[in-house]
Amino acid sequence: MKCKNPKLCSKKHEKWKKNQRQFIPIGEREHELFLKYLEKKTAKLTLGRHSDKRQYQRLISTNDVNDIIKNGWVIERNFFPNDQSVSLVILGYTRTYRPIHVVCIVLNDDHWFVKTVYSPVSKEYKWANGYQDRICFCKDKEEDE
Ligand SMILES: [Zn+2]
Repeated sequence: MKCKNPKLCSKKHEKWKKNQRQFIPIGEREHELFLKYLEKKTAKLTLGRHSDKRQYQRLISTNDVNDIIKNGWVIERNFFPNDQSVSLVILGYTRTYRPIHVVCIVLNDDHWFVKTVYSPVSKEYKWANGYQDRICFCKDKEEDE
């Protein structure tokens, strides 16, 4: 698999970079806040059914997901005006050094919903800079999220 429209995706990447320069710092603050609740053991992390199934298929454990949220960092923040929701993509590494992306919906300062989990290695062409920068925006037949 590779990018089907490099010219368009390159343009989209420029826009993505510009937007994320503004949004990632907001996501970092949301992440820090959530970690404080985790420390106090008052944070709530809900795993979606979808993420359960995906984890199982891709052999990513719930421990991995927790580790990545604790030790990873925000690489993308999106706001969806339709339902006013915020999602964060967090990059981290498992104990065996597999890079993993965890996509979380911020339901509240102290309550996140894990929407999906995957290894960006499976679609290497979509990422640059150590799986931190989205460089391909092509839609796949098999949906990612
Ligand atoms: Zn593309």
